[in-house]
Amino acid sequence: MQYRTVPKTGDRLSLLGFGAMRLPMKGRAIDEERATALIHAAFDAGVNYIDTAVPYHMGASEAFVGRVLAGKYRETVKVATKLPPWTTHSRTDMDATLTAQRSRLQTRSIDYYLLHSLNRENWDKLLGLGVMDFLDTAEAGGQIQNAGFSFHGDLETFREIVDARDWKFCQIQYNILDEEHQAGTEGLRYAAKNDLAVIVMEPLRGGMLANAVPPAAEAYYTTAAVQRSPAAHALRWVMNHPEVTTVLSGMNDEEHLRENLQTARETFPNILCPEEEAMMAGARDVWRQAMQVPCTGCGYCMPCPYGVNIPECFNLWNNHSLREQRRGTKTEYAVRLGGALGDAPGNAGLCQACGKCMAHCPQQIPIIDALREIQQIYEGPFWGAKRTIISHATGIATRILAHRAHRDRADTIQERD
Ligand code: SF4
Ligand code: SF4
Repeated sequence: MQYRTVPKTGDRLSLLGFGAMRLPMKGRAIDEERATALIHAAFDAGVNYIDTAVPYHMGASEAFVGRVLAGKYRETVKVATKLPPWTTHSRTDMDATLTAQRSRLQTRSIDYYLLHSLNRENWDKLLGLGVMDFLDTAEAGGQIQNAGFSFHGDLETFREIVDARDWKFCQIQYNILDEEHQAGTEGLRYAAKNDLAVIVMEPLRGGMLANAVPPAAEAYYTTAAVQRSPAAHALRWVMNHPEVTTVLSGMNDEEHLRENLQTARETFPNILCPEEEAMMAGARDVWRQAMQVPCTGCGYCMPCPYGVNIPECFNLWNNHSLREQRRGTKTEYAVRLGGALGDAPGNAGLCQACGKCMAHCPQQIPIIDALREIQQIYEGPFWGAKRTIISHATGIATRILAHRAHRDRADTIQERD
């Protein structure tokens, strides 16, 4: 594992950090056994930074991270969590939130404490509520070690926030698609110039750069001198920047961890040659042209009071646009979002335009308009009938499979007899 230095403190943070936002799941809950094994394997391989927040996993992430860290790992691993602006309405709320977080994380002091998801609105709100006094007091009292902020606004606001305080670090969204978006490359350099450690989130843009690779982008990757997966190429591109301290990855699979560890071992600052830079620029242009909506799947917009599964609607729409072969996409939408398998529907047509989600989207996506477009493309006048037909078809298929399984079991028992 490589370690990079936090300029103002000398802390040595692992180049790969663990993001506790997309942990392995069992049904609707964190698969604690598997997630614990995965995170401990990462710590044992040298990862020494784990990032969580109040809303991750619908409020379950912080307490889970507290259990994962309890014991020997708390000595060696730095923990980061965040103050949520959307549930902070007073200076007293800030103290109460931090006290609850220290309790959930089972720690006296939080190593890296961030103001969560700052943009113009959240920054102005927290400033007005006395957040500077809160951070000063918490740092002086040892409840937090290092104050920072995570960011999803525009470059001008980013510069203003960097200049507003002696921050130790910041966290920005950065990947091949976000060079000129939010803080972007200019913001990354500005933070580094001001001696802030930079933690990068969304290096794979919510998994899209690993899982939804258009064939034309894949063609660029085949020209690489060393063949790597799309995820490894995307991570390597971020880690190549010397201004980056730690790259968070929301790993939920043992193979992801193995591959990311290898990338973090091999990728030194400025290691990309001009040919590799050009290859990544070519792949990036393909993605930019094909994406419908810049959703990262962060889930901050959820839950929707009318049941719309907003990230999944956008995920499917993007995936279908990125795949050149689009046969069966309406059926896939009906199965995954229409409730055709008996689960709760989450399709775009359920949106009542209440606007609750809009203020929470760090990407400033016009969610209502985008959902209307998805509804028009995928649902149409025969939506109800289509769901019913698919529901019947899957019901018949399920019964056939159950019958076969029963018959096979009976045959096996007879053979044993
Ligand atoms: S605007 Fe639509 S998607 Fe957003 S919360 Fe309201 S109903 Fe749900
Ligand atoms: S719509 Fe916005 S808030 Fe919702 S998952 Fe996508 S990026 Fe996150």
